[in-house]
Amino acid sequence: MPLPPTPTHAPQENILIVEDEKHLAEGLRFNLEAENYVVRTVETGEEALELLLDKEQPPFDVVVLDVMLPGKDGFTVMQELRHAGQYVPTLMLTARGRSEDILQGFGAGADDYLSKPFELSILIARVRGLLRRKQWAGQTPAAVTPKAPQRDIYVFGDKSINYDQLELRAGEQVYPLTLMEANILRYLIDRAGETVSRKIMLQEVWGLHEDTDTRAIDNFIVRLRRYLEIDPAHPRHLLTVRGVGYRFVPFPEG
Ligand code: CA
Repeated sequence: MPLPPTPTHAPQENILIVEDEKHLAEGLRFNLEAENYVVRTVETGEEALELLLDKEQPPFDVVVLDVMLPGKDGFTVMQELRHAGQYVPTLMLTARGRSEDILQGFGAGADDYLSKPFELSILIARVRGLLRRKQWAGQTPAAVTPKAPQRDIYVFGDKSINYDQLELRAGEQVYPLTLMEANILRYLIDRAGETVSRKIMLQEVWGLHEDTDTRAIDNFIVRLRRYLEIDPAHPRHLLTVRGVGYRFVPFPEG
């Protein structure tokens, strides 16, 4: 009698939880381990930075980062990680109903967020989403099955944006993008030549419907301009439309 096929297990993925509330951290660990992830918890941002910036440590696949931490808060940790070139996919846990926290988190380089209190199943789904995205980004062309979608690349001038690899190339320079940076660029690029209001971007890209301070988006645009523009103070691709929002221009005149 033929044996049933051996199930193939993906290599176990490593998740780092940064949360000082012990019962919450332990609850998350228990449930993520039940999903077959390898989980490590730390209570402070300082410990998280030490672990994530140490090249000798085995890398993590996803970080769950609480905003409210003793010492360095989640925003600072996020910012320091990105400045140091550490682009591990990160899910931030924010306080309920604080849209400015969400925007600050994305501004600091987070990939996704979840407001406390949250449903455990939602957290696990978000973690899976980040891992899936990472696997896509890590695939070599040979590993891509014929069913897989074509590589998702947008080219303009000497620049290109690879949405699968989360990478922006400008001449010889290569900039890694966070998921949210890629999403916002895609949103503007899909509407090239049109003015897109801050309010619409908040709704469509961030999924925020509350009355939020829309100026928070500007920090985001400032960062994207550093990658896209020769002179970020005088942008030619990512234009500000005064009092309204932004417009993407792939081929500026002159
Ligand atoms: Ca906390």
